Amino acid sequence: MKRNFKFCLLAGAIAAFSLSACRDDKMEESILPESQSASAKLEQPGDLEKSCSYVDQYWSSSAVLKTTLSNSTDTNFMNAQMTKIASLWGRSNPTLRFVDDPSNFNSTYNAISYSTGKIYYGYAIYADAKNKGGDIVNAMILAHEYGHQLQYIFNLPTVNESTARPNELEADGFAGYYLRRPNGYNKTNFAEIAAAYEFAQSIGDYQTTSANHHGTPPQRRSAVRLGFLLGQYDLNAANFDYNFFYYYQGVLNGTYKMGKNSVNPEIDAYMSQYMDELRKIQTGEISAEEFKQLK
Ligand SMILES: [Zn+2]
Repeated sequence: MKRNFKFCLLAGAIAAFSLSACRDDKMEESILPESQSASAKLEQPGDLEKSCSYVDQYWSSSAVLKTTLSNSTDTNFMNAQMTKIASLWGRSNPTLRFVDDPSNFNSTYNAISYSTGKIYYGYAIYADAKNKGGDIVNAMILAHEYGHQLQYIFNLPTVNESTARPNELEADGFAGYYLRRPNGYNKTNFAEIAAAYEFAQSIGDYQTTSANHHGTPPQRRSAVRLGFLLGQYDLNAANFDYNFFYYYQGVLNGTYKMGKNSVNPEIDAYMSQYMDELRKIQTGEISAEEFKQLK
């Protein structure tokens, strides 16, 4: 859920270190009985490889990396979602791995997108999201995490602030977009997306402990709604970014009235119907409950 600027370089350094220590990234999986297809091809781990069961500094020391969730239905669902999300943006899959920690299950209540092209998804957040909000919540979280991959790949967002707020808001927008697109999750009923979002933002790293970092809950709702609205159009990642901030910043400070959508002017007429609504979501004039009633 987070794309932490300050630790990007550090994460890169750690990844480089663990690569050299383990020789091969796949060694991390080789000690896991669950990843049989992977382990079958690899040597039995020695002491050196065992130390690589430590995922990285973002996870507990007893956490292990796996290629599967606890059953094949869940694993297949997430892998299929990963393929659908990436292909929506014309990309091949990033490396999706799952993090389990049998001795401290709740420590895996997180999902992280790395600049090295990997997404690590915790067992605990997956299970809780599915139990409380259904498959759509995990699809939304995964799409948000993949949004960070798009940011790494295309050097987005084009808007910068001193915190990661634009990154997080845009990732929420990418998720809303994916959930609506016909070749994505294909949910045209916004109420289901809004309900999923209300759950997603209440769990794990979605908790808005720092409004400057993730944006306030109303700002995030507005971002999801905007992504959903842009889902009316087929956009590439760069065009999504342009339009997201064109309208988002415009809503925030009113500049959209003075600006000109020079990239996708055909979107303007459609979006103009929603600018007042987006602003009201953002200010909280449209409450969390009313948000769920939007069409
Ligand atoms: Zn995030």
